[in-house]
Amino acid sequence: MFPQTRLRRLRNHPRLRDMVRETHLAPDDFILPLFVRAGKGTRIPISSMPGHAQMTVDLLAAEAREIASLGIPSVILFGIPDTKDATGSSSWQKDGVVQQAIQTIREAAPELLVITDVCFCEFTDHGHCGVLHDHPGANPGSLDVDNDATLPNLVKQAVSHARAGAHMIAPSGMMDGMIQALRTGLDEAGFVHIPIMSYAAKYASAFYGPFREAAESTPQFGDRRTYQMDPANGAEALREVALDVAEGADLLMVKPALSYLDIIRRVKQAHPEIPLAAYNVSGEFAMVKAAAANGWVDERRISLEILTSIKRAGADLILTYHAKEAARWLAEEA
Ligand SMILES: [Zn+2]
Repeated sequence: MFPQTRLRRLRNHPRLRDMVRETHLAPDDFILPLFVRAGKGTRIPISSMPGHAQMTVDLLAAEAREIASLGIPSVILFGIPDTKDATGSSSWQKDGVVQQAIQTIREAAPELLVITDVCFCEFTDHGHCGVLHDHPGANPGSLDVDNDATLPNLVKQAVSHARAGAHMIAPSGMMDGMIQALRTGLDEAGFVHIPIMSYAAKYASAFYGPFREAAESTPQFGDRRTYQMDPANGAEALREVALDVAEGADLLMVKPALSYLDIIRRVKQAHPEIPLAAYNVSGEFAMVKAAAANGWVDERRISLEILTSIKRAGADLILTYHAKEAARWLAEEA
């Protein structure tokens, strides 16, 4: 008890503060999302995500080398194809935009781990995460994603990514049974060694706003609340996660991160044995950028604090648009 116990003693010397720090952020915690588009020689800046751009495949080699040189171990790819249809069939073409990007990055920076997002919202003309059916369900008069009809298409896309050289696939569509379908499909195609990182607890979040511009994936009608989770639910995330673990997920993910630190903590406590990623999403990034541009916050300090808090909550890995800047800041501090 006070005055014998004084916690300020441990904060008095900067070296001692370093020595008793519980959470350490490092560039090898980061996975950097990249937006790849069809075409050549084109870099289209994303206005709501300063520093980020849609890039054509030919521009990826230099980008990949820079990312690797910063000590960031991994990228996750999102494709913007030149043709879209009702099923998103351009997502499983041998020479599709993501397939080409995988090969380019692997050649340019062999040390990078290439993860692919596996979903359909960027590839369907309606912008939803799977094929649609006209069973109105609880929403009379509205189309909805056909869960079971989407599963075989997810397998086609994932196997196509694996054939192109993806090291890991990350299904994000929140379809029931997707992990089991993908594990079986990958195994049958000879890709037993390819791990699956499941977007296990993905919420129907307004924090995805800037991403929709970046990936050109805004639904043409309706929203994603029949497949993504209600932001009000926490216990349900544990059911989602438990199912994905049972179906064979190798890594788990919570998305978004900052407003869902409690979910990250609960998932880590429920499954401490499984690596957990958290997605520090576009809206979280854009808010920091906008406030920093106005001089209202210190971008460097607030970004590192946010990333540290995500790790402290229980994430082992962080998908973040701040990866390159944070890697540079951390190198300066080391
Ligand atoms: Zn999607």
